[in-house]
Amino acid sequence: MPRSNVNPGIILAALSFAAAKHRDQRRKDREASPYVNHLIEVSNLLWTIGRVRDENVLTAAILHDTIEDTATTPQEIENAFGKVVLNYVVEVTDDKSLPKPVRKQLQIEHAPHKSPGAKQIKLADKCSNLHDITHSPPFDWSPERKREYFAWAKAVVDGLRGENPALESHFDHLYEAGMKSLSDAE
Ligand code: NDP
Ligand code: ZN
Repeated sequence: MPRSNVNPGIILAALSFAAAKHRDQRRKDREASPYVNHLIEVSNLLWTIGRVRDENVLTAAILHDTIEDTATTPQEIENAFGKVVLNYVVEVTDDKSLPKPVRKQLQIEHAPHKSPGAKQIKLADKCSNLHDITHSPPFDWSPERKREYFAWAKAVVDGLRGENPALESHFDHLYEAGMKSLSDAE
């Protein structure tokens, strides 16, 4: 097991910050689960399966949707968690001024050029989303839409490979299992 220098106080501060920022947001599943569940899941995947022990990466994973999905400013993140964490969060944030299909295409094109930390956060994020689409999907998605998401997520992840083989195999397993359950349901 890699040596851990992770300060639990920073992780708890990030959880507290993210829980407050996302407090009015829900996931898209039928039960409208609290959004923060996804942030906990992404950081937990990095810790347990990815064996990531880099405090900045784990902190940024918890904060990964704050700039994209809430009113959080980059300055707030820098003030509370520092520039390294901010840079990771910015790296995994889409430019919301662009149309959705362009943003999705840019994720595929930009993936290979991300830093190792950002690649691992994106990989864990896609793992969490494939798991959710298989077990607690957006309530109004057709099987076709789920397949489209799977194909797109795989195209992004193929550009992230080489940093964390354990998380990559976990993604491949979720991909196979999710596609199988879609076929079995037909
Ligand atoms: P969205 O981006 O609208 O939704 C997926 C995102 O929602 C995930 O990446 C995840 O993002 C978040 N999310 C919240 N709850 C869940 C959950 N329970 N399970 C999984 N993810 C969840 O969808 P698309 O990626 O499909 O993007 C929209 C695109 O789809 C457009 O380009 C549009 O053209 C197309 N479209 C396709 C349709 C079809 O039937 N094929 C119909 C309508 C649009 P995060 O990690 O950030 O939380
Ligand atoms: Zn996410």
